[in-house]
Amino acid sequence: MYSEARKPVTQKRNLITAIPGPKSAELIKRRGEAVSASLGTAFPVFIDHSEGAIIVDVDGNSILDLGAGIAVLNVGHSAKEVRENVKQQIDSFTHTCFMVVPYTGYVEVCEALNRLTPGTHKKKSALFNSGAEAIENAVKIARKFTKRSAVVVFEHGYHGRTNLTMAMTAKNMPYKNGFGPFAPEVYRMPLAYAYRCDACTKPCESSVLSMVLHKIEKEIGASNVACIVIEPILGEGGFIVPCKGFLPGLVKFCKENGIVFIADEVQTGFGRTGNMFACEDESITPDLIVTAKGIAAGMPLAGVTGRAEIMDSIHLSGLGGTYGGNPVACAAALGAIEIIERENLAERANKIGKILTDALNAMAKKYSIIGEVRGRGAMQAIELIKPGTMDPNPEALTAILKYCTSKGVLILSAGTYGNVIRLLPPLVIEEDLLRDGLSVLDEALASIK
Ligand SMILES: *Cc1c(COP(=O)(O)O)cnc(C)c1O
Repeated sequence: MYSEARKPVTQKRNLITAIPGPKSAELIKRRGEAVSASLGTAFPVFIDHSEGAIIVDVDGNSILDLGAGIAVLNVGHSAKEVRENVKQQIDSFTHTCFMVVPYTGYVEVCEALNRLTPGTHKKKSALFNSGAEAIENAVKIARKFTKRSAVVVFEHGYHGRTNLTMAMTAKNMPYKNGFGPFAPEVYRMPLAYAYRCDACTKPCESSVLSMVLHKIEKEIGASNVACIVIEPILGEGGFIVPCKGFLPGLVKFCKENGIVFIADEVQTGFGRTGNMFACEDESITPDLIVTAKGIAAGMPLAGVTGRAEIMDSIHLSGLGGTYGGNPVACAAALGAIEIIERENLAERANKIGKILTDALNAMAKKYSIIGEVRGRGAMQAIELIKPGTMDPNPEALTAILKYCTSKGVLILSAGTYGNVIRLLPPLVIEEDLLRDGLSVLDEALASIK
């Protein structure tokens, strides 16, 4: 195993065996015996160590990572500040439970969240272990604050895998199938998904948005709605960017009707989309914002941040959990946040976004299976179709990912129809390495007949 003093990992893709190599193949077999078959594998190697945008596997192959652990490693693999903070914290203490004996790291992460999230109003935060747990807590807070029960979510939305968040998630397979019954009082509304939305030929204000507001009024009753929960760019749903005006329209409706607007920025947060948070793009201010993934470079941590009067409306000990805001995870978060701010990774995300969109648009001109290129900043996707139609093309996606895997490029899929290639590179990726990955994707598209 990797134990000697740390050597820098060359930021280059380099294969010395087929993928998977013999050691990975052996471990995949062992895994098959020991681990539940329900857990998937996007890339069939076992990791030995990693740095920046490169994963070195147990056979010595250097894999280019364009998924960043699902938008978690915005600061790259094994970032120095994260490693050093974590080591130092482990040598001091690893656990007390914040509600038993508090520690500074928790308070500092909350201060950072209050400072970095949109809006200049007085904010407070609470920390949890996962995105799903934080979403559950945001809903608990909104219900208690409003004394209402209905939760409004959207088509193509993804909010997690716990019972309430499964109910809030749109897609049946693989997330929900057979796992019901689901939590009640969750209502799903249409989404302004421009590529697949006839109504979107008109401005959103007069089409999908008005349809949604009408349905909320007529089918639920605005006065019964505790919260509207939406991802400002839908992640698992396929990097769907709601039409301009859709999010501000929802925020305005919430304000007029005493509804808590909750932005699920679990995937879009921490510089990913070219702003610290995706809500900043249309200058919307959520009442509560949920963060996770990019917050702590892989240590389990999530946050709910919002208006102090909402966050303080819960009775004493109404929120909590044994591990939420674990000191080691908080130390990692403080390291990650330091890098994101100091290196201005949001600005880096815009530069990456320009490289990605230029390359992907050029590919869309060459390959008729690309229906749409979309996203923002370093969160870009292509939707694959059967040429000459709008029909989703998941078979092409499988073939493309297989090709990229064989060349040592890790790319993730997404989308309600299983036909979206999503690119989520670490925000510290070197430009040459990014272009190398894009050239492999181009070859993969060219190989599809
Ligand atoms: C990943 C994700 C979640 C769930 O987070 P977990 O940490 O996996 O529970 C919720 N919302 C969005 C938008 C996500 O991308």
